[in-house]
Amino acid sequence: MGAAPLRRSVATAGGLALVITLAACGGRQATEVTTSSAPPLNATVTTDPPPVAATTTATMAPTTTTPASTTPTAATTTTAATTTTAAPTTTLPSATAVTTPGDYVDQDLVIHLTFRSEVDDVSTEQFEAIAMATLTDARGWGPAGFTFVVDNTSDLTVVLAEPGRVDELCLPLETKSYASCQNGAVVALNAVRWRSATSDWDSTVDEYRRYLVTHEVGHLIGLRHPQERCPAGAPKSAVMEPQTGGLVCPGNGWPLKWEIDWAMNRPAVVGPLPSWDGPRPEWP
Ligand SMILES: [Zn+2]
Repeated sequence: MGAAPLRRSVATAGGLALVITLAACGGRQATEVTTSSAPPLNATVTTDPPPVAATTTATMAPTTTTPASTTPTAATTTTAATTTTAAPTTTLPSATAVTTPGDYVDQDLVIHLTFRSEVDDVSTEQFEAIAMATLTDARGWGPAGFTFVVDNTSDLTVVLAEPGRVDELCLPLETKSYASCQNGAVVALNAVRWRSATSDWDSTVDEYRRYLVTHEVGHLIGLRHPQERCPAGAPKSAVMEPQTGGLVCPGNGWPLKWEIDWAMNRPAVVGPLPSWDGPRPEWP
């Protein structure tokens, strides 16, 4: 990365801005994503449905009322204020850090992540190391053009917390003290699930943790649940299928080949809010 990076701002659907950095890497252009314009916490995300949810997808109906905390407080967003439109602050953005669709297609993305553990016990102490090992594993999202780096200045945050705290971070999504979610710039992982997976999980806790990280960070990079779950002949679950609320196919913590292909042709979204209604893929 010897070339001086070019810095640019991309206006979002909500009139806010996502600051990105373009850096030349061996002839290929990588876009570094270090912040989203989402209110850092108390915001919104995509959730794994809790068990016995009637549907297999998270409820992402646009919220018509705006939380009082919608006004961004992060100073980082002000650096790109020149792109801000006259959108009223009372309007909830359709997606937090959504760029113009297509902006990121055919570009590699470097996603900067802050990790924060709000729990402290022996079974969670390796949280950051385990999560990063998952995100940098060759079986993960890397082949789709994503690189993940630890950067504690980034707004994009992966939090491990007890269920009640996850519920708070995920609102307006309902995680019911059981599930985890992605909500704008925040990925909130349920520490009880991290410790012990689920009652019907059919593999190791390690594999569940890989699923949890790959799935929720998959939402962070703009991926949604498939249109159907585990069609006939599918050997195992797609990683973007919700697997916390009950398994249909065998549990799986890595993207299937078609999910990698899908992620390579992804919509241009980082840190979407629950109201974002992006495309859902079909099994090939
Ligand atoms: Zn999900």
